[in-house]
Amino acid sequence: MLMGCWIAYTQTQGKAPALTLNKVKDDLYEIEGDGGNVAVYVTGEGVILIDDKFEQDHDGIMEKVKSVTSQPVKYVLTTHHHSDHSGGNVRFVGTAEIISTANARQNIVEHKQPGAPANMTPAGVVFTKECSVFLGGKEVRAEYFGRGHTNGDAVIYFPALRTLHTGDLMAGTSPLIDYTGGGSLIEWTKTLDAALKLDIETVIPGHGKVTDKAGLATYRNNVEKLRTRATGLIREGKNQEEVGKVMAAEFGWNPGTMQANWSLPGIMKELK
Ligand SMILES: [Zn+2]
Repeated sequence: MLMGCWIAYTQTQGKAPALTLNKVKDDLYEIEGDGGNVAVYVTGEGVILIDDKFEQDHDGIMEKVKSVTSQPVKYVLTTHHHSDHSGGNVRFVGTAEIISTANARQNIVEHKQPGAPANMTPAGVVFTKECSVFLGGKEVRAEYFGRGHTNGDAVIYFPALRTLHTGDLMAGTSPLIDYTGGGSLIEWTKTLDAALKLDIETVIPGHGKVTDKAGLATYRNNVEKLRTRATGLIREGKNQEEVGKVMAAEFGWNPGTMQANWSLPGIMKELK
């Protein structure tokens, strides 16, 4: 497991891939490529970033920010502790306030992610339930609705734009459950149900293309489908390898990938 994660991490080091900036709506943009999706909220008093990818992406992110505003980055809201979302924190120390859930901070302090860089930098300001940043007459609200991908996933809500950044509570097409980081497949759907109660039109996932509320609801239902399928197999007495084969065939959890490596041993324990 350690080996698989380390390889996945080091493969992206040294050659920062090109990033693309897309306008989501009004003063909200998102940056895709290498690591998690970054949201860029521009106000008249500074920029609020959601996540900051790997450290190696810092210059690329700043180049994209500068292409839409001359305002400085004042806040970085971190969705969770993984290095593809908060690896760039180290470059904002002293210039921007970094905010995360208390659990996301703790997971960085305790080096919970195998293979993460030694200079991972935790938030300076934390919250346990909800935290709003008001800047230039605009609000960004971070909410903690419970466990899922980890035990510290914040969703970030832009009320005026009816837009939500989900972090890795929605990423790709199928969930990766980080049990070492406190994740839970049983809690995941409850967490998304709480998020779906928000007045949302547009959804920025942790990885993948921008979608809408229906896309998030579909993803939530897929998580439930996967859990029901895996629970049935485990209760029939299938072992990890057998469950893994079904997860690969039906939900894309291919053997040897970080998704399968991190999620499979955990679900065998959680769902039995
Ligand atoms: Zn993650």
